[in-house]
This record gives sequence, C-alpha cells and structure tokens, in this order.
Amino acid sequence: MDAPRVRIAPSPTGFFHVGSARTALFNWLFARRHGGTFVVRIEDTDAERNREEWVDVIVDALNWLGLPPDEPPVRQSQFAAAHAEAATRLYESGALYGCDCTREAIDERLVHAPQTGYDGHCRDRGLARGPGVALRFRVPDDGETIVHDVIRGDVVFQNASIEDFVVVRSNGAALFALSNLVDDRAMKITHVVRGEEHLANTPKQLLLAAALDAAEGVEPSPPVFAHVPLLVNEQRQKISKRRDPVAVELYRDQGFLAPAMLNFLALLGWSPGGDDEMVDLDTMIQRFALEDVNHSPAFFDVAKLTHLNGAYIRALDIASFVEVCHPWVAPRPGEWLPADQVPPWPSERFDPAVFASIAPLIQERVATLGEVPGMVDFLFLDEPVIDPADFAKAIARQPHAAALLNDVLREFEACPFDAESLHRTLVEVGERHGLALRKAQAPVRVAVTGRSIGPPLFESMALLGRDTVRRRLAAAAKAAGGVAAPAPG
Ligand code: GLU
Ligand code: ZN
Repeated sequence: MDAPRVRIAPSPTGFFHVGSARTALFNWLFARRHGGTFVVRIEDTDAERNREEWVDVIVDALNWLGLPPDEPPVRQSQFAAAHAEAATRLYESGALYGCDCTREAIDERLVHAPQTGYDGHCRDRGLARGPGVALRFRVPDDGETIVHDVIRGDVVFQNASIEDFVVVRSNGAALFALSNLVDDRAMKITHVVRGEEHLANTPKQLLLAAALDAAEGVEPSPPVFAHVPLLVNEQRQKISKRRDPVAVELYRDQGFLAPAMLNFLALLGWSPGGDDEMVDLDTMIQRFALEDVNHSPAFFDVAKLTHLNGAYIRALDIASFVEVCHPWVAPRPGEWLPADQVPPWPSERFDPAVFASIAPLIQERVATLGEVPGMVDFLFLDEPVIDPADFAKAIARQPHAAALLNDVLREFEACPFDAESLHRTLVEVGERHGLALRKAQAPVRVAVTGRSIGPPLFESMALLGRDTVRRRLAAAAKAAGGVAAPAPG
C-alpha cells in the first residue's frame, strides 16, 4: 500500500478520553506499520469547545502516551472556507436544497406520517439559500449505500432509511458530516479509523463525498473506513465521563505508566497473539493489522489495567523505578506534579539515600506510583500519620499492646539496630507474650509507620534509626496504656 495518512479528530472537551487514546494508538500503530503519517485535527468549530488550553490537553496526553503526531496539529476552524465552498458547490449542483421547516412543524407533520425523521417537505420548493434556511442533502429514494469497513466487513444501509439530513444549519454553519469529510479530503486522509459511534454517519459522508466528486468532476476515492469497537464498563454500558474514569490524565495522575496504559489500550479490541501479558510497542507495530481488530465491545477493565501497571512497575530496573517516582516523592522545581499534589513531607526532610534503600521493597508492593508516598511517608515525617482504624485494631483494642510495646522498647535498646536483629528480638518478645510474630508485629508496625500495611517492618525500622523508633514506640505505649486503663470517671 502507498504510505497511508491517518488522523484522529478529537473535539476539545477539557480532557482526553481513553477511547480517543485507544483510537489514537490504533491509528499510530497502523501508520508505523506501513510507513505512514499520523496527524491530529482538533475539531474545534463548536464555539463553546474552542478553548486554547483544551487543545494543549490533547497534545499533552498524546505526548505522555508516547504517540506524538508526525505533523503539528491542525484545527478544523482552519478549514472554514473549504466547508463553505463545498456547501456552495453541493448546493449549486442540486445535491443540497433549502429547508426552512422548524422542528415543531416537522414533528407535527410526522404525527400523521408513517416515517420518522425529515419528510422531504422542502425537496421541491426551490427555497433559495439565505438566513433562516438550512441546507439538506437529497438522499436517493432507493438503492443502498455500502460502507466497506475493514473491521466489520460490508455494512449495507438502505438509502430509504436515511433521511434528508441537514448539512448546513440555518445559521450557515456546516455540520459534522460535511466539515469532517471536507477536512479529511483536504488533509488527504487515506484511512479513517475511528470509534464505532460514527458508523451511522459514514453512509451520509459517503453520499456527500460522491456528490462532491461528481460536482468537482473528479474520480471518487473515498478513504478506507475502520470503526473500532465501543469501550464498555462492567455493566456493558458505553463508558462515559459521568459514570466512569475516562480521562487519560486521571490515570497519569494516579501513577500509571504510559507503556502499561498503551499495552492495555492495545488489547481493547485487538490481540497481538501469543500468551504474553506484556507486549511492547515494537511488537505491536510489527503485528498490528486493522483486519484483526474485533468488532464486539471491549471491556475497559480498570482492575486489569491496574494489575498490568503493577507488572510494568515491577519490571523496571531499580534506578528507573526511583526515577519514575520522582514527581511523587521529590518533585524538582518546575516539574510536573501529579494532579498538583505535593508530597506530604517537607521537601528538606526527603532523603534520597533512604528512599533508594527502601525503593526495592516498595516497587514490589505498589500497582500505581500514586501509592508510593503513602508507603514511605513515615520515613520522612517527624511523626507518622496514624490511621485511626489501624490504631484501634492493633493497639487500642489489644489488651496486651501496652505491655508488649514497653517490652519491645526495652529489648530494642539492647539490640543492634539492623533488620535481622530487630526481627529476632521481636520474635522473642512475642513468644514471651504468647504471640506469634504476626500478632506481635501489628502494634509495633502501627506505632512506627502509622498503618497496618506497608513495606517490611524490620528494614523500615533499621532505616528510621534507633532514636526515631524509640520515640514512636514510647508514644504508642503511652497512648495504649491510656486506652487500656482509662482514668475512672
Ligand atoms: N470529532 C469526532 C469525534 O471526536 C471525530 C470523529 C472522526 O474521527 O471522524 O468523535
Ligand atoms: Zn423543510
């Protein structure tokens, strides 16, 4: 095939939808596979949606994913003159006709009519173009329009079932069917790979394209179409901003890795074959074929994405893991902050060496980078953030807690402060109290780290050092004593 030119055509909405990201990925893979070009057109002609920073949102998300367009993004508004010109040509050729029916008038007529949609009332009225007059397409009464879809095969639409649709609104604005088509023609797009929700628009666009070709006296050369499957949630509903987490930025800000996100997106409707859960971009490029994309809805399974992300995190070498954690634990001046969140400790308290020591233990335990600060905050805060529920469960409601913590305090004074010695000592103290290590460890962990889950306790205590551990254990022992024996009255 000649080098293809593909595009995504997102509307600026203030966020970048994961469905758009999946469409972008399929376009990008297709372009890479065939030595083609991937471009972005921002469909910004809706006045309310024409905000500069919303364009940045799209470009930023593509860059983050690692799918930068091959050419600077263009905007639909740049093509406004071409839309008007195409409308004029179609009108002059007779493909469009003027209509001044109001919605109410149409609805009233339809009450007594067998069909739905527009009834063709103005077809032969010969209304001139002008303010208050919309332009409709004269859809042939019979015959069929076939969308040759790479993913779905031939999809046949009976022309009789397509109403004479509005192409230019009564205020002169070209509607999606025309503007989107004119842009694709101007941009010499060879393959339109887009969401399934546009399948119903495609026969209208094919009819318009044929009429334009005829009016311009050129050979028809419609692009190849491929409509990628819907993304649905667990309830099999199309995922939407209202009920589902659909913004790519949301995942970025929670600490999903772009390669994991891409891997997950690629599997929404496509499979590279083989059993490997983790598939890198090069493999995807080598294997990608639009023909292999499935047409049934794809489940956007956040649990699966999270699991996959954990696998990508664990696959990093330790230096890379420490590096990707940076924005979460020690943002550099001017560095991007996940959702504008700063770490919970004062920046001068962060110790890169301590973090590097604990990092291998953290890497095994997190599925997203957003979990990292909560796992290490006790190392960089003067006092741990005590989780009240964990405190109640491991300390306040345990009659043995105060005595145990006091014993641990005393024994730790006599023991070398390394993970192994601390471990051995706590086993012994636990035995004296008739407690298995798991039980003996619980109050110590909450006292020292604030929570009942986190990185391995003994390594953590060794990193914290004797003074800090002593102070925290003493505070907890005191609190435990207070709860165990409340003052009367
Ligand atoms: N603006 C449309 C959308 O975001 C473009 C559809 C297309 O790719 O043609 O759904
Ligand atoms: Zn009319």
